[in-house]
Parts: sequence; C-alpha cells; structure tokens
Amino acid sequence: MSDHLDATIYYDDDANSSQIIDKTVAVLGYGSQGHAHAQNLADSGVDVVVGLREDSASRKAAEADGLQVETPAVAAEAADVVSVLVPDTVQPDVYENAIEPNLEAGDTLQFAHGFNIHYNQIQPPEDVDVTMIAPKSPGHLVRRNYEHSEGTPGLLAVYQDATGNAKAEALAYAKAIGCTRAGVVETSFQEETETDLFGEQAVLCGGIAELIKQGYETLVDAGYSPEMAYFECLNEMKLIVDLMYEGGIGDMWDSVSDTAEYGGLTKGDVVIDDHARENMEEVLEGVQDGTFAREWIAENQAGRPSYTQLKAAERNHEIEAVGEELRGLFAWADEEETAEEKAEVSADD
Ligand code: NAD
Ligand code: MG
Repeated sequence: MSDHLDATIYYDDDANSSQIIDKTVAVLGYGSQGHAHAQNLADSGVDVVVGLREDSASRKAAEADGLQVETPAVAAEAADVVSVLVPDTVQPDVYENAIEPNLEAGDTLQFAHGFNIHYNQIQPPEDVDVTMIAPKSPGHLVRRNYEHSEGTPGLLAVYQDATGNAKAEALAYAKAIGCTRAGVVETSFQEETETDLFGEQAVLCGGIAELIKQGYETLVDAGYSPEMAYFECLNEMKLIVDLMYEGGIGDMWDSVSDTAEYGGLTKGDVVIDDHARENMEEVLEGVQDGTFAREWIAENQAGRPSYTQLKAAERNHEIEAVGEELRGLFAWADEEETAEEKAEVSADD
C-alpha cells in the first residue's frame, strides 16, 4: 500500500463478469459515453438495448453498429440495468417519463456522473440499486482503448444498495466496458460530483481558458504580435501539460530551461496568488452548497439565455480567429492523429 493514496482501486480480478453477463442493460443515449458503453458491453457478451427517441439522429449509428434500438421507455422496461447516458440536463425529464414507470424492484440505475442524484433532481425509489461507473475519459477513447485491449481508468460509486449486490454488479459493468483493465477508483456520488464541477470550473475548463486569454491579452495589449501571444500562451500549453501528464510537474520543470524553471517557480504564485485561492474556495462553496446547481438548473429552465450569450462572446474572442488562421498555416506534428480523433468525435454526434 502507498503512503499517500487512500482510495481503493479495483482491477479485472476484483470483478466477476457473471454479475452482468446474464443481465439486460438499457443504454439510454448514444452520444460520447453511450456509444462506447453500449458497444463495449455488447462485445463483452452483455445483452444490450439502446434507448433513443423515435426521431433521434443517433438511431442510425446505433443500428449500423449492430445494436438493438428501442425507445427509452421500451428499453428501460426490458432492462435489469438502466445506464443513463443522455445529457445531464435532460436526465430528470427522461427519468420521469421513460425510466421511473418502468423500474422494478431490484433493477439498477447506473450513471456516469453524479449531478442529478447528488442534487436530488432524480429521486429513485428505495428498492433499486443506484450506482456510478464514470470513465475518466471521453467516450471515443473508452471505445478505442477497449478495441485495442487497453483500459480506461474510471470511478465507481454506490449511492443506494437495495439488493446487497450493487457494488459487485457495478464492478462487473466496469469490467465489461474495459475500466478495470486500467483501474477503477472507489468514490461517492457526492465526491465525484463536487470534485468534477470544481475541477471544470476552477482549473480545467474555466481556469485554463481564462489563464490563456488573460496571458494573451496582456501581451497583445502591451504591443506584441497576436501570433507570438498565441504561440506563447495557447499553443505551448499542450506541450507543458503533456509533460506533466506523463511525469508529473517535476518532469515539466526538468524539461524546461533553468531560466524558465526559476522564473516559473518565483512568478507562478505572483499571478495565481492568495486572492485566486480565495476565489477558488468561493467557487467550491458554490458547488458544495448547491448554489451552482440551482443556477444551472434555472438557466436551463429559462432556455439558457446567459449560456447562449457567454458562449457567443467566447467564440468571438480575438484569440480564436488568430488561432484558426495560424493553425491553417502550420503543419502540426500530430496532424494525423488529430484528424483521426476529429473524425471519431464527429461520428459520435
Ligand atoms: P452526449 O451529449 O454526447 O450524448 C447524449 C445522447 O443522448 C445523444 O445520443 C442524444 O441523442 C441523446 N439524447 C439527448 N436528449 C435525449 C432525450 N431527451 N431522450 C433520449 N435521448 C436523448 O452525452 P455524454 O457526454 O455522453 O454524457 C452522458 C453522461 O456521461 C453524462 O452524465 C455525462 O456527465 C457523463 N460523462 C461524460 C463524459 C464525456 O467525456 N463526454 C465523461 C464522463 C462522464
Ligand atoms: Mg425493468
């Protein structure tokens, strides 16, 4: 056992496939996660029914992949395990109309993210199991890794164990989609939801985009060329993050020049200072006390007015136009893989 890790991690040997092989799994939604779970489960010998609306554009793709497609209600009725892989914002509606009327005692509600359970947007009856297997990766990689006999790390959580068998079945589900090949970390719906929302807001999506834009604007406003600002603040981000991903922050420091290392070590916390830390704590509080969840639910109920506006403003930022032109002028080293990934992602839509 490690001195620093406290979560339990499960691998293939911890999972018993018979817990899922005999069962029928309804995969509702055939987007990023849905197409990967459905195909991996089917290839692992599980009985899969995909649930999609009659007019869903995804129907053709699921049928072309050789899967049985029904409406969400018919699929849920037939299933022992209902894997809820429609967008989080439509899950409460799909639950109310298609899932809840078709749940039987002993069935399982299976999620890939905890939002709707944790914030009580879905309140399942007490006689069903409620579990989560959340791959820590977009669906096209969950599928590709499985096809290449590789795994995708994932999270496991049990919210409700009505049968006494919830965890064993969730582990078997994780094995069938390839997650236990890589390792599955045990967590709770609360921890997964809160860390996921905090991460995407403060560090990953929100934090990093703001860091890049503000760095870019600082250089351009000081009279430097947009090309230089783009390369310095956006393009090189990937190279730095790749180093951290492969070998930790230390590998990044080892790979850059001593000047970059000294400058970074002395100036990083001048930029991301105590004030930024306090702001992060405030963002975390909004996640923990449900303020963010209520805000996002209300925003959806109102037809997404702020979201639409913010999204458009972000797309119109100068760095986007500069980047588009620059990316067209240079032959990137990883061009082939990028094109392949793009093709796979658009095939998932
Ligand atoms: P997605 O947007 O890629 O796909 C949604 C699918 O649901 C599509 O097939 C769409 O046709 C279908 N759909 C939309 N509205 C519907 C409705 N009203 N009724 C029936 N079907 C409908 O979704 P996703 O990104 O795969 O997310 C699914 C779940 O997986 C979410 O809980 C999400 O948080 C979680 N998750 C996603 C990722 C990821 O990288 N995308 C990673 C981990 C967990
Ligand atoms: Mg049923």
